[in-house]
Amino acid sequence: MSIEREVNITCPHCDAVTPFNIWLSVNTSQDPELKEKIRDRSLFEFECPYCGEKTAVDYGMLYHQPEDKLIVHYAITQDNADEVYHMLTDEDKRGAFSSLFEQNYMIRIVRSRNQLLEKLAVFDAKYDDRMIEIYKNHLETAYREEHPEAEQIEILFFSTPEGEPMLQIFEGNEAKGVVPLNNSSYYDLLQRHGIEMKPMQEDSPIVNQDWVKEFLSPKYFEKQKSTEYEIN
Ligand SMILES: [Zn+2]
Repeated sequence: MSIEREVNITCPHCDAVTPFNIWLSVNTSQDPELKEKIRDRSLFEFECPYCGEKTAVDYGMLYHQPEDKLIVHYAITQDNADEVYHMLTDEDKRGAFSSLFEQNYMIRIVRSRNQLLEKLAVFDAKYDDRMIEIYKNHLETAYREEHPEAEQIEILFFSTPEGEPMLQIFEGNEAKGVVPLNNSSYYDLLQRHGIEMKPMQEDSPIVNQDWVKEFLSPKYFEKQKSTEYEIN
């Protein structure tokens, strides 16, 4: 079910206060028009009726695309992200989520609007988000070799209107460049790592750069081995 709520927004340009609808929950089979409005960011854009100024409004939401058995939860606070993470990863606490696991849903938690849009772009383009994160990790390493002074780097996947897969590199909030995703490198990664991985739906609900660091650390493989040993 989609859930809307009205909030008052103060225009940063003219100070007028106007109601604006935010979406706590979006269900794309119930409200198919919202699918595009998220992707073109208009759901996050407030246009002041007095001065016409457009302002981005950031808010968390549960994005549900039942036709593809996909949920992306955008947690606006770390506490909320932790709470949902524990619900999803502890079988006894799944509650309402249990039936989604039975239906083999893909569920992810993200911490920013950009990450929400990125996940949707990755899944729209039918990529494995874990391989995309590993790919980004390699790209960041290469970028840092050329830019040793770079501090915080974030790389985000997106598709051009023509459907070309791209990666955009940010230092802090500043966009530094865009590189196309090389599909043959992507499929090399998939071949190399895919075999070691669980199905996407059964993996961690949080797939980001921290996930990659854990995945690439020797500890992960020790853990995998010990589980296998117990099973045998
Ligand atoms: Zn205004």
